[in-house]
Amino acid sequence: MTDPITPIPHDRAAGENECEHALVHLNEFLDSEMTPEDEQRMRAHVAHCSPCLAELSVEELVKQLVRRSCSERAPETLRVRIHAQLTVMSTVE
Ligand SMILES: [Zn+2]
Repeated sequence: MTDPITPIPHDRAAGENECEHALVHLNEFLDSEMTPEDEQRMRAHVAHCSPCLAELSVEELVKQLVRRSCSERAPETLRVRIHAQLTVMSTVE
């Protein structure tokens, strides 16, 4: 299986822009409102960038929980708690 998208190296200069792109479009991605190109770029990036993948996972989990509980917004404490858990998970090799 070949991936047509070139992985974006996570170095200082280029990495920051890709991370910014990922974070800025996080909600569009989760709501499936992205262009296919942006979505591919996002997927390619988070596949190689664990901080952004963690961020994406947090938002996704929070979204699911919010949807289930039918409330407007997840409480900030929940977001922080999930984030802390994922950070621990992603740093354990
Ligand atoms: Zn990133």
